[in-house]
Amino acid sequence: MQKSWSAVDNYLINQLLPNDPLLEKVLENNQQAGLPAIDVAANQGQLLALFVRMTRAKRVLEIGTLGGYSTIWMGRELPEGGKLTTLEFDAHHAEVARQNLQLAGLENKVEVIEGPALDSLATLDPSETFDLIFIDADKPNNPYYLQWALLYSHPGTLIVGDNVVREGEVTRPESQDKSVQGVRRFIEMMGNDPRLTCTALQTVGLKGWDGFTLAWVNG
Ligand code: SAM
Repeated sequence: MQKSWSAVDNYLINQLLPNDPLLEKVLENNQQAGLPAIDVAANQGQLLALFVRMTRAKRVLEIGTLGGYSTIWMGRELPEGGKLTTLEFDAHHAEVARQNLQLAGLENKVEVIEGPALDSLATLDPSETFDLIFIDADKPNNPYYLQWALLYSHPGTLIVGDNVVREGEVTRPESQDKSVQGVRRFIEMMGNDPRLTCTALQTVGLKGWDGFTLAWVNG
């Protein structure tokens, strides 16, 4: 099935997305720097860019930078004066991301904060909320990331959580996998929080079988 999923993704990407030599170069840089190819696919990147546009986001928070591929998709949609803060644990990933962001001309709009995201989140200013928050780092910490995301939200903030299907393991309460347990708790917290309107979609494509959550902070 993976072959068919990839073929369909490639078809959709070729039909719908413009050629993007810059983002192709970013993926090449990431590969040359030895980063794992766990960035979002191009059609998912475009979806994130559309979320920035649809929410008219001026301030974006990303948890999990890698080489800055998704960061660039979102950062390019920001208006004049907009700002994206992205959190990355791995110093090498952060350095590659900074170089890629410079290549994209986004170094003045994007701040890469290096260190464990839970530490970095504790240093942000809660009076400065975000319009869009993309959670895409270590899944065992997703429940804590959701708590922080809510602290840094306002009515109308969109919170996106990636990689929530875990090869279908997400349905297994008895799973010993810490990522599965993190995602299950994350989903349970979202579903039980009256401040949020939520949904989730499972997806197939270039990156296999996966899925993402969407949570809208109610007014
Ligand atoms: N958003 C990126 C993209 O689509 O281009 C992909 C992010 S990748 C799936 C996850 C990243 O989160 C990795 O670079 C990893 O080093 C980082 N990460 C893992 N645990 C972290 C933590 N505790 N704090 C901050 N970053 C972390």
